[in-house]
Amino acid sequence: MNSSALWVGQKGTELLVHDPDAQVAGSDLVVLWNKTTQEVELYNRDILRKNVATVSDSRVSDEAISLYSAWLVNFKSLLDEERVYLVKRIENEKREKIEKEERERQKIEREKLENLSHTERAQIHHGAFFERRGLKNPGVRPRGMLTRHRVTHCYSCKHPLDNSIDIECVACGWIICGCGACGCGYGL
Ligand SMILES: [Zn+2]
Ligand SMILES: [Zn+2]
Repeated sequence: MNSSALWVGQKGTELLVHDPDAQVAGSDLVVLWNKTTQEVELYNRDILRKNVATVSDSRVSDEAISLYSAWLVNFKSLLDEERVYLVKRIENEKREKIEKEERERQKIEREKLENLSHTERAQIHHGAFFERRGLKNPGVRPRGMLTRHRVTHCYSCKHPLDNSIDIECVACGWIICGCGACGCGYGL
């Protein structure tokens, strides 16, 4: 331990020792040793900056540092525990941030989907219809003048065909249902 790197601060009547070796990089919490309670304490970096002043009396700070050094001989494991906790905390925060971003991404996707026209949605479902069956998506084309197959109800979802959907499957030529079904899946 490099005692010259130690810093002693004062918060009210309490003396706090800051050991650079006890800190965890990237954490918003600072690990400090409290001379009054002889315990390891965690402080928010910003609160610390506002409320803790450097001890100017070197006798006071030297005494705190020597007490800390003596404490460290027996209780270094308590510092290590806090470090393990802080590392976990950073990992959790990172994971939560990733999960939050994923939720937001999905929300945007959902909203995008909600804003699509019936035709655009049917096209996406048509692709998924083939994907689910492990088949290559043949794609769609605008509904032709001569649609080869005319039905009023979808065999797959049983709903009436939506007249506002004006695309057909390139492979079978059926008008695509809102659920994505076309003739390619008929009888499968
Ligand atoms: Zn359908
Ligand atoms: Zn088809």
